[in-house]
Amino acid sequence: MPTTTAALPFDLRTDAVLAQLHSGGQYKHLRTIDGPMDATVNVRGYGECACFCSNNYLGLANHPEVVEAGLRGLRDFGAGTASVRFICGSFGPHEVLEQSIARYMGTESGYTFVSCWNANEAVFPTLCEPGDVVISDELNHASIIDAIRLATVIKKGLNKSVYKHNALTGPNSLEARLEEAAALTGGGQVWVVTDGVFSMEGDIADLAAIRALCDRFNAILVVDDSHGHGVMGRTGRGTHEHFDLLGKVDLFTGTLGKALGGAAGGFVAGPKRAIDLLVQRGRPTLFSNALPVSVACSANKAIEILVREPQRVQKLRDNSAYARTQIRSAGFEVLESPTAICPIIVHDTARAIAMSKRLLELGVFVIGFGYPVVPEGHARLRVQISAAHEKSHIDQLVAALKKL
Ligand SMILES: *Cc1c(COP(=O)(O)O)cnc(C)c1O
Repeated sequence: MPTTTAALPFDLRTDAVLAQLHSGGQYKHLRTIDGPMDATVNVRGYGECACFCSNNYLGLANHPEVVEAGLRGLRDFGAGTASVRFICGSFGPHEVLEQSIARYMGTESGYTFVSCWNANEAVFPTLCEPGDVVISDELNHASIIDAIRLATVIKKGLNKSVYKHNALTGPNSLEARLEEAAALTGGGQVWVVTDGVFSMEGDIADLAAIRALCDRFNAILVVDDSHGHGVMGRTGRGTHEHFDLLGKVDLFTGTLGKALGGAAGGFVAGPKRAIDLLVQRGRPTLFSNALPVSVACSANKAIEILVREPQRVQKLRDNSAYARTQIRSAGFEVLESPTAICPIIVHDTARAIAMSKRLLELGVFVIGFGYPVVPEGHARLRVQISAAHEKSHIDQLVAALKKL
């Protein structure tokens, strides 16, 4: 933790924090990529590297059809409307994309945002009301945490509570929080929100058990499956498909900036009445521009390719299983799960950053995560697998790990 500098003027305290990050080996250097995202990327200053830090799970970020669809969108519609949707309207591709998201997710309706961060910030402050309780997994994504914080400010009297990561019964579990909520609400709505796939652990929420608990306590289940779409389930629909729960999750948020094209954008998918209310009342929908139409076109093409070529999902799964086995046999501690996120636990933040720098010199692009992205003492290298990888890329990663 940085020592407290709060009483100092901005310039002094900021310089102190930055100096501390440098001296602690925790300063993040942003790399520049010369060329598109793919199995290998050209990292400025390091040359061609095998890429294991992108969420480009299906290898669609530079797919020729995805690129062409974006170009066509730009040619046909220009850059955008220079306005929000309720004033100047949306373009046809937004509607097409929203229908295709609803179909893909198995929901009644869908709506897009410039990011999933925005989607989460629309959902909770708009749909929750005073007297409701929102119950959240402690390791949920920062955008969910902040969206709930914002919701409790905008809707005074909205209660929030947090359960221990993936703990469904016992002390501090979801069940315990649901029991407490029944006493708190006095008739308000109870909401349960979880990531489908947790981005730092690479583990998944047990949606089948969570669904059963939500049914027992009459709670609405919201799943942010940003790392699950395109990855989990036989046809890559997400963690709900993995658990055979198509049609059983009340509301989804998700991103178009990972497997589904990789540019940017987020969405909400769920019942028509929830989407209607977000369009009418959501502050990110009323006061912020639409997803760029070129991105809507390329994201729609990405979903089309995913549906057409489910073998990409299988290849991703095979690659992930192979990577886990190989990393483990090289003597590293890798967290087990059915996802494409393979965190290698190294504990110390400075060590994780130093290892990732050395890997880059060896031609392998992997990022080390430490505090404050993960709790102190839990630093890790997060290896992310893609359907774009061949076995040779994974072998290259493991050979580099062995040299560390
Ligand atoms: C990546 C991620 C987000 C943020 O998505 P953006 O579209 O980049 O804002 C939100 N939620 C979860 C669970 C994520 O993994």
